[in-house]
Amino acid sequence: MLNEAVKPFEMIAGDVSLDLVNTLDFRFRESGAEELLGSYDDLLRFMTQSGLLSGAEAQGLDGVDAERGQVLEQVKELREALAGVLYAGVGGEEAVAAHVSLLEGYFKQASCRRRLMARGSRLVWSWEEVRGTVAAPLWLLAQAAADLMVSERIGQLRTCSADACRWLFLDTSKNHSRRWCDMKVCGNRMKARRFQARQMTAK
Ligand SMILES: [Zn+2]
Repeated sequence: MLNEAVKPFEMIAGDVSLDLVNTLDFRFRESGAEELLGSYDDLLRFMTQSGLLSGAEAQGLDGVDAERGQVLEQVKELREALAGVLYAGVGGEEAVAAHVSLLEGYFKQASCRRRLMARGSRLVWSWEEVRGTVAAPLWLLAQAAADLMVSERIGQLRTCSADACRWLFLDTSKNHSRRWCDMKVCGNRMKARRFQARQMTAK
């Protein structure tokens, strides 16, 4: 059963692959980052919240534990390569070749898993065969990232101005003035962190 009581993910980025990168929270914090994808079930919650999988599809993915763990690790590997390329990009730097070739591998494999099918008078790429498998999150996320990374939209990439946060998002505001991941989310996150830190030192 997926635990619905857990705090939902903050999907503020405007693209699921950026929301994925943001699941390693406080990535640049001196005291260390916080992993929001602690388990495969967390990954499934992320997938349903993003709309890439339906609740029923997510509930159906109960493969053997080892395979779930492996898929989670691969999603994180994909995420970290994305993070490497994207943060290099916002810093005006060229991406590291190892990150690019890792992404190339995942992107190619993902596209191979689609099937071209006839729908009425049109052809569509279908993920039907992937959706029922434990690896569905990996391939759906890889394809979403592949679509974003080579699109015009990536020109709107920004990072949150809060030093500890630096979450990625697409700035779609009219005057390109978005500076924060989400004023409310980020402000509250920082407040919660400070409160927690105070509690820790008080103990
Ligand atoms: Zn932020």
